Amino acid sequence: MRIVLLGAPGSGKGTQAQLLQARHGVPQVSSGDLLRDAVARGTELGKKAKAVMEAGQLVSDDIVLGLIRDRLSRPDAANGFILDGFPRNIDQANSLDALLREIGQPLDAVLLLDVRHATLMQRLAGRRICPKCGSVYNVSTMPAGVTVCPKDGAEVYQRPDDKEDVIAKRLEVYAQQTRPLIKHYTRLGLLRTVAGEGELDAVAERMEAAALSKPIPAGKISVGRKPSAVAKQAKRKAKKPVAKAKAARPPARKAAAKVASKRRKVVKAAKKSAKKAKTARGKTSRKPVARKKK
Ligand code: ADP
Repeated sequence: MRIVLLGAPGSGKGTQAQLLQARHGVPQVSSGDLLRDAVARGTELGKKAKAVMEAGQLVSDDIVLGLIRDRLSRPDAANGFILDGFPRNIDQANSLDALLREIGQPLDAVLLLDVRHATLMQRLAGRRICPKCGSVYNVSTMPAGVTVCPKDGAEVYQRPDDKEDVIAKRLEVYAQQTRPLIKHYTRLGLLRTVAGEGELDAVAERMEAAALSKPIPAGKISVGRKPSAVAKQAKRKAKKPVAKAKAARPPARKAAAKVASKRRKVVKAAKKSAKKAKTARGKTSRKPVARKKK
């Protein structure tokens, strides 16, 4: 499995990448984690990246590409990978295409997690992380007053770029630089859009189905569709009871199915009576009369 996860900050790429990693045994390669690790270790590269990340901007392409190239050359990525947060602009996508061609590892799919703006804001502003085990929580679902990780008791913290003004910047950068990748991967026939709201397991199931689905021929894809329409549609579907969904089948389709079934019955009956007539004729027919010789 070689896939790219696309989606706005807070769309759940990291969480879903971990689930896919556990299920398929291929590593999650997160550019954000690689950068945060470099910052934490205080490397030269990390020092350069720190301020840029805290301002919600993109770190330079050559730094990120270097990290990704190194990571993909590690043995555990030989059988596949889940790229999370990379590529994030068209230049990075082109560099990735070239790199994967070079190492003979073409992408199987690009999964876009579609989540509404309001949900993104709520998820990011409320996100808290355990420094010990890396578990991610949200203040909206943590019991009131609890600020420690239930697994190991460590005080959870807020990522510096999850402050509201930085979140706004990151979403703006996403809209301007990363969203154009939707068209790029649609044209390559690789994009699948997954409704990213709802229960974690339900999203994971949709991701799984999308990751394993066959590629859509590029000619059959409508590039213009607004991704958020997918989220709305999924929500509507989830609300609709099954019986109602059946009843809501377009009447034209129902009528066409009825006509087709009627036609099949008529044809069958006609064939049957033709066969009967033939048999009857066979029984009563005279022996062929010999031709008179001239
Ligand atoms: P999110 O997707 O929630 O913004 P990430 O952990 O993917 O979180 O990224 C955090 C920050 O790391 C980004 O805001 C950006 O500054 C930097 N970063 C991550 N990936 C890239 C990338 N591919 N190119 C440039 N900068 C990146």
